[in-house]
Amino acid sequence: MDHLTREQVATLTADLDRELRKLERSMRTTEEALRPVKLDQTAVGRLSRIDSLQNQGLTRNLQEREQAKLGQIVAAVQRVEAGTYGTCVECGGAIRFERLEVFPETPTCAACSP
Ligand SMILES: [Zn+2]
Repeated sequence: MDHLTREQVATLTADLDRELRKLERSMRTTEEALRPVKLDQTAVGRLSRIDSLQNQGLTRNLQEREQAKLGQIVAAVQRVEAGTYGTCVECGGAIRFERLEVFPETPTCAACSP
């Protein structure tokens, strides 16, 4: 990561840390939302039960996205420790600081980004 100054890496590492904490908080909320739906036959009608099952489907999608992001952040932290942070895992080129500021967890440069 020769193209990044030590200060820039420190800034991005702090960003990663903040993202990680934020993600951990929202993942806890998601997990709570995924607790089994209580089927209260008397108070809750059939429609609202379908509603809450649909909501759980959406929440499950959210959880998948959160888990994918968590994996990216953890991998980015590992690249910081390995000294390869800021290097594109696809082409080995430098990832611009401006891109890392927006996506500190990104493993690829803009050209290799899907
Ligand atoms: Zn690349």
